[in-house]
Amino acid sequence: MIKNYMTYPLKHMRITQSYYGDTSHRRHWDPATNYSDYPIDDGGENSGSEAIYCPCDEMVVTAVKGVGNSATNTVWLVSTSPVVTPTFQDIAFMTLTHSSDSDLKDVTVGRKFKRGEVICHEGRDGASSDHIHIVCGRGSSNNWIQNTNGSWVIQGDTKKPEEVFYIDRSFTTELWGGYLPWIDLPNDTIGTPIPRDSSKNQIEVLVTNLNARSEASIQGQKLGYVNPGIYDYQEVVENDNYTWYKIENFYVAYQEGWENLYPKEEEQEEIIQEPRLIFQCPKTGKYIISLKKGEELYLR
Ligand SMILES: [Zn+2]
Repeated sequence: MIKNYMTYPLKHMRITQSYYGDTSHRRHWDPATNYSDYPIDDGGENSGSEAIYCPCDEMVVTAVKGVGNSATNTVWLVSTSPVVTPTFQDIAFMTLTHSSDSDLKDVTVGRKFKRGEVICHEGRDGASSDHIHIVCGRGSSNNWIQNTNGSWVIQGDTKKPEEVFYIDRSFTTELWGGYLPWIDLPNDTIGTPIPRDSSKNQIEVLVTNLNARSEASIQGQKLGYVNPGIYDYQEVVENDNYTWYKIENFYVAYQEGWENLYPKEEEQEEIIQEPRLIFQCPKTGKYIISLKKGEELYLR
């Protein structure tokens, strides 16, 4: 990912209650006249307790409440730099509710998580079955507040989850999206094509869906699709049954039809016509030399 996209934090989306849910969520916002939030409950793939992953490049824990007391365990995380969401580009926050005390023993204020790192798991602290209750929004947050419906909601500029998270379909399987209008992660494009230059090693990308990867490996992180066109390549690596070419700061795998290769053309050696000795005079005298048209004679 080139941009700091905010992506859905579970590997399986199975919304058991959206923010429309009358079980408990609807009164978080309807008809609250002051504070609102828009929670979803995700039960993961099955009845187990699935992991929640950091959804952007980095988040820091700004609050942990409920551990060791009767309040429902909740973790507040805020991005450490602006994120790209379907509706805004700014700092964003996410709260995770119901993880167990033991799951949160190392999740403390100030701890940072990198994209893809496990933060905690679904749990049943304050709930009857394992799930995670997620609230998100723009800016920062570190507390609850009670609204006019009597519901404790997350303080701050809360947003609907589909306004904050893209779904990265290569990471998250949508089992049940709760009728919410989720938006797919956009495909980034990468690379600035240059003119053809026969004195350089060059490669021409022919297709629009060639992956740029961070390493010369099919395990390398996908950075986006390479813009078609000609590029210099600096390095050739054999790995994973592909020949990889390094372009700019990423690698592409070669396959016939995906790219054309233009290795550097060897410089034409300038042929200097040295005079050749073809006859050495054995003694002083007169000689007849017969020349054909165009032939040259050098005398020394
Ligand atoms: Zn909930």
